Amino acid sequence: MPELPEVEFARRALERWFEGRRLVRAVADGKARTFRGGEAPAFERLHGRLERADRRGKYLLLAFEGGQGLLAHLGMTGKFLRRPAGEAVRWSRARLELDSGEAVHFRDPRLFGFLRAMPAASLASDRAVAALGPDPLVDGLTVAQLKAALGASRQPLKVALMDQGRLAGLGNIHAAEALFRARLHPARTPGSLSASEWTALQRAIHASLRFGLSSAGDGEEMDYVEEPGAPNPFRVYGRAGARCVRCKAATVKAFTQGGRTTHFCPHCQPARGKRK
Ligand SMILES: [Zn+2]
Repeated sequence: MPELPEVEFARRALERWFEGRRLVRAVADGKARTFRGGEAPAFERLHGRLERADRRGKYLLLAFEGGQGLLAHLGMTGKFLRRPAGEAVRWSRARLELDSGEAVHFRDPRLFGFLRAMPAASLASDRAVAALGPDPLVDGLTVAQLKAALGASRQPLKVALMDQGRLAGLGNIHAAEALFRARLHPARTPGSLSASEWTALQRAIHASLRFGLSSAGDGEEMDYVEEPGAPNPFRVYGRAGARCVRCKAATVKAFTQGGRTTHFCPHCQPARGKRK
């Protein structure tokens, strides 16, 4: 499932693909759920230059010339792909045809993503976007910001990190990875963290996202880790039952938190932290 690094990868790709190009025709599969909350005809009126491609958390905020905007979310399986015009793309729900003769497809097999045309001036104030907490890449995320974002939560750390209203962009993978890097048990609470643990967590979030971005590569297209046959580049996520990559002694465990599977090393991430 796409998290901040994958959405940032998509943002950069769109910026690159639209550079010096014009959108000449937007075509929607009008039956697709992709356009819920908006209208396919409004999507099909998009045209011209892409003036800004911004991201907040897992949302893409695209501003086209003349004040037209598009809010996009990749959902679970959404992806933008660039292909020669006329080439059929399986599960393409919409395409943006460029004056270069190429088409940018929104491919989304499971239909949890969406494309919503709206005035560009309304993108940042859209209810879902306005409700997001700070974005570690866009807003920087210092230790003080992280503490302000999570400090008052009574949720377990892992659940609080994935709460988009507290912090935007982290999902199941990067929340688990950041906690592993910071050596914090996922069930610890924000209130139990010492000053050095807050610093460790802040650094670990940035390190995990940086790793996610770098492993996304410079290529044209990114494959999600969950796709069959893809190697697992992560330190703890998806490694239940395997030897821990850090201590090389304990076995990575999994348990369910907030409806999602959490992976952690019981040796490196003890349930009780050191005394404050
Ligand atoms: Zn370990």
